Amino acid sequence: MLQNQGGIMVILSSPSGVGKTTLVKLLSKNRNFFISISHTTRKPRQNEIRSKDYHFVSDEEFKRLINNGEFLEYAKVFNNFYGTTRSPVIQNLEDGKNVIFDIDWQGADQIKNKKLNYKLITFFLLPPSKEVLFERLSNRDMKDKLIADQRMKEFDRDVIHWINYDYVVVNDDLNECYSKIEKLIDAEINNGSKDYDKDFIKNHIEKLTS
Ligand code: ADP
Ligand code: 5GP
Repeated sequence: MLQNQGGIMVILSSPSGVGKTTLVKLLSKNRNFFISISHTTRKPRQNEIRSKDYHFVSDEEFKRLINNGEFLEYAKVFNNFYGTTRSPVIQNLEDGKNVIFDIDWQGADQIKNKKLNYKLITFFLLPPSKEVLFERLSNRDMKDKLIADQRMKEFDRDVIHWINYDYVVVNDDLNECYSKIEKLIDAEINNGSKDYDKDFIKNHIEKLTS
């Protein structure tokens, strides 16, 4: 497809708690990516800042945005609605800025199907193991074991969507994972050679799902 001179779009998806938000923030800081700030009907976590982490809105406001056609994509995830409004994304891409999204597989599918005129690279992140994932979820969600349990239950349903992504990366050591993603993005932009071991990923998925 012919692409214009605007920025590129990078999507990070993963089962909850693998590390998307952490990696998105690193890419924004180190590579000046514009983070697409989603709207959600979920309640803020203790450390979350309004309009920085999410635009936290009511069900009514979310419905209004749907009816106004303002979303590039939206989906229901864990009983809450999440969506990406179109105009800030397109404005930044048109200004030549790269835009990064932390969205689920449903949103990634919708953006892919839109076939926008900007380069799109999609990443699916995996944990090193289910035990490590549970630990990360429990720590993040203020030791709320119930939330961690609920999100672990979704893991098997979420993980099968890895197949629809350009790259799958394991987030074990954070710096290593970041560096892999950064190198793959650079290789995509410059048409360079890609250090990507598909067999390792297939084996890892087998281990996680067996
Ligand atoms: P997600 O956005 O995918 O739900 P987060 O970025 O919120 O996940 O990460 C979940 C928790 O795991 C956070 O407390 C974060 O600090 C921690 N974390 C993320 N990546 C790593 C890593 N590589 N090693 C250890 N802890 C990590
Ligand atoms: P959390 O509640 O942990 O912040 O996010 C829950 C899930 O919703 C994650 O998988 C995250 O990627 C996804 N998500 C966040 N924002 C959006 C969005 O705008 N659209 C879609 N489709 N998913 C989102």
